Amino acid sequence: MTSVSTNLEDLSWIPRPRLLALRRLGIETAQDLVTHFPRRHEDRTEFPQFPREETDAAICLCGEVIKTSVRRFGGWKKIFEATVEESQPNALSEPLVCRWFNLHYVQKMIATGQRIVVFGKPRLRGKRICMDHPEFEVIENDEEMSIHFRRITPIYPATEGLSQRVLRGIIYRVLQEATDTGWEPIVPSTLVRGERSDAIRAIHFPESWEGRDAAREHLVLSEFFAMQMLIASRRFESTARAGQAHCGSGALLNKFLKALPFKLTAAQEKVITEIRHDLAASYPMNRLLQGDVGSGKTVVAIAATLLAVEAGYQAAFMAPTQILAEQHYELLRRWLEPLGIRVALRTAARQEESGPLPLFAPQAPGSARVSRAGDGVAPSQTSLEADRPNGARYFRRRLPHFEKPWAIYAVTIGTKKNRCLSPEARTTVLNSLRHFHKTRYEMFAACVMPDHVHLLIQPWPKGDDDKANTAFWPLSELLHSIKSFSAHAINEIEEKRGPLWEKERFDRYIRSGRDLEEKFHYILRNPWDAGVAKQNEDYRWIWTQDDEGRNESSFRRDAETSTRGACATQPDEPQIIVGTHALLYENVSFSNLGLAVIDEQHKFGVAQRARLTAREPAPDVLVMTATPIPRTLTMTIYGDLDVSTIDEMPRNRGKIVTAVRDTSKLGEVLSFLRTELEKGRQLYVIYPLIDESDKLDVKAAAAEYELWRERLHPFRCELLHGRIPAPEKQQIMDRFRRGDTNALISTTVLEVGVDVPNAAIMLIENAERFGLAQLHQLRGRVGRGEHKSYCILLSSNQTKETSAKLAVLEGTTNGFEVAEADWDLRGPGDVLGTAQSGLPALKIGNLKRDAELMRRARAAAMSIFAMDPRLEQSENQHFRCLIVEQQGQSFSHIS
Ligand code: ADP
Ligand code: MG
Repeated sequence: MTSVSTNLEDLSWIPRPRLLALRRLGIETAQDLVTHFPRRHEDRTEFPQFPREETDAAICLCGEVIKTSVRRFGGWKKIFEATVEESQPNALSEPLVCRWFNLHYVQKMIATGQRIVVFGKPRLRGKRICMDHPEFEVIENDEEMSIHFRRITPIYPATEGLSQRVLRGIIYRVLQEATDTGWEPIVPSTLVRGERSDAIRAIHFPESWEGRDAAREHLVLSEFFAMQMLIASRRFESTARAGQAHCGSGALLNKFLKALPFKLTAAQEKVITEIRHDLAASYPMNRLLQGDVGSGKTVVAIAATLLAVEAGYQAAFMAPTQILAEQHYELLRRWLEPLGIRVALRTAARQEESGPLPLFAPQAPGSARVSRAGDGVAPSQTSLEADRPNGARYFRRRLPHFEKPWAIYAVTIGTKKNRCLSPEARTTVLNSLRHFHKTRYEMFAACVMPDHVHLLIQPWPKGDDDKANTAFWPLSELLHSIKSFSAHAINEIEEKRGPLWEKERFDRYIRSGRDLEEKFHYILRNPWDAGVAKQNEDYRWIWTQDDEGRNESSFRRDAETSTRGACATQPDEPQIIVGTHALLYENVSFSNLGLAVIDEQHKFGVAQRARLTAREPAPDVLVMTATPIPRTLTMTIYGDLDVSTIDEMPRNRGKIVTAVRDTSKLGEVLSFLRTELEKGRQLYVIYPLIDESDKLDVKAAAAEYELWRERLHPFRCELLHGRIPAPEKQQIMDRFRRGDTNALISTTVLEVGVDVPNAAIMLIENAERFGLAQLHQLRGRVGRGEHKSYCILLSSNQTKETSAKLAVLEGTTNGFEVAEADWDLRGPGDVLGTAQSGLPALKIGNLKRDAELMRRARAAAMSIFAMDPRLEQSENQHFRCLIVEQQGQSFSHIS
């Protein structure tokens, strides 16, 4: 009998090659198979008559192949054509020509006399009706007709090595044979109608379109419910953690508000009340503050810090870039020092726009070990001999050209003459590596093999040397320290002399999150893949941050310092510390941290946030974002945070007019700019740079700048880009703020948070190169004062997509509307990676289309947790599997 948990291998009727193809899709059990949901359905109950016109919608037709032919073009390229005729043609019937370009296999599958079903858009080509690259299926025998035809037929996501009909046939048979047991519902019956088993059958082979829709709703609700249970549990976990109240009486806040040159908007007041409530509670606050650019989030954040400071705690205020940190610092000093509050700025002076690469989500303890076995990445050889081709790669020296801030490197160091390291020596090496971890670099993973070492490290800033830009530890220096430190110790143990390490090493700059993850797993699997350790056997000289966690060093240290500081902030210590990410890496920053404000949250990685919240007792955390995200996404990506929204702009704002102009109209645009400059307004010119570190781009920036100086002569321009040293950047911004400069020619360094009310015009060059969200962000730099403001989007590439995109901005200045439109244009995946949220990918639900279902699922999950947060009641116990099995870890430390 087939049940849900049956392994497909045990079904003798599935041929082995098919099993392998299924496995490549991650399908191993009956359960996996039947939750491989159709991508769409085709109405094959009745086939329409063959069209005589072209149509925009794809249609599904059935007919007989009456002719096939192959034509060549452009040398070796081939077009295969199959002419299909309607089953019962009449005098007016037109045959349909199906064409495939360069698909040799199609030619082998279709022959004259066959009946086939095709799906595609009919197009008029000359006098013929053609379908190019239609999906097709050959009808082989009538017995199978009932599965594949004469019904609403499921079409599955395309799969290599498995045709639609084979896959459909297997799913059909498994569903036929499956018993009704084992389909235990994992959704409360109040949320869905009917049985899960029926819904699954109906999603594959529906009786009617209504039946399909009902089944889909059932399954989407189940899926969303599972997701929301996970989110609810994270949320519960974080509120259950030890926290403290960090809320003063509010006297200080009132003093501050009285001194403000404006009145708070109702939305700002509402949000402050929400935050105040959280600060006063003993559980840690985890709140997201969203509000459009210019809606006044900073004032709200300051209000929150004042409440914490008044209660005797320190507050941290973090911004994603140096410029912003310095701007915040200026503002805080201006507003708060009169109130007698000590504000400090702590940044390792550096250029930094991109920030560190996103880290992989923290591994569950032990889970790294599971993934160590397996394939995908070739193992390194343990014995490195210079004359062996694949060993040689470790001897090729590939030094990165420059040391990039926050770069992560994968490094391999070999021993001299493949000297074999004894177990003690390996331990010594590992200890040396750990010695510098979190002082000179952050280490993500390390593995000491018998004759070489792999590690993944990110050099840290050398210190808070405020002048230099290259304040990071150079990789070469770091490796030198590691080598000499360990060589010395090992030679001492082994009573040997002479060099231990090969001079040459192999290192590589990590380019993306994915790259990092791959390298990470590669390193962790190396002893097994290279055969140094047996499968299922532990290898002691492998290290990840998890291992360190188990050794209880780093966080314990944090815990100690923070309990020591449970009393009020000392009079010589700053009460508010403003900085960039670097704040997270400083060991000495806080004696008594009560509240952390993170501005422009999306620039901070999950791991960075985790670093903050991992402290004991947990500080209250307020994250702010000016990238409004559609509501359904808020319910998932930030589902475990409480959300406050500022949905109202301060009243004194001038209007922003947005206009898209073709580059050919630059002349007119320039004369407009001049009139505005003459009125005393200031101007931003933004141009896109792909990679700021590229030398060429710096040249381009300079050329751009020269050009603009000529165009705007005699108005004063300055150039701002990411490679300008921080102190100089600061001076440029100051001159602009004071009005000494009329126009700022800038890259997107300017993107977030810069606030100069008199800058009322923005011109964005090559606007098509930016995303909608980013354009909206940029536009938010103007319209900050009482003047009427303008945002001109210059674009020379007016494709249909760009026009649609840019038209959104002409149409609205509301960030939420922009975000919704962006979502429409690009699809949910792009807006914000769900990967960042650590949630499983959706199999059937659609975050946008099914927003209402998400809301219902969320309400159901929340109400269960509200009544029974530990899922102890008998009717809730079976929901535990939703939280444990899928994740194997709790999430409180991620968000
Ligand atoms: P954002 O939400 O983009 O961070 P800011 O906090 O930088 O916005 O605020 C933008 C500008 O609006 C600042 O100059 C700030 O002083 C001002 N502002 C904030 N709240 C109000 C208000 N209620 N009335 C008038 N101006 C305000
Ligand atoms: Mg801001």
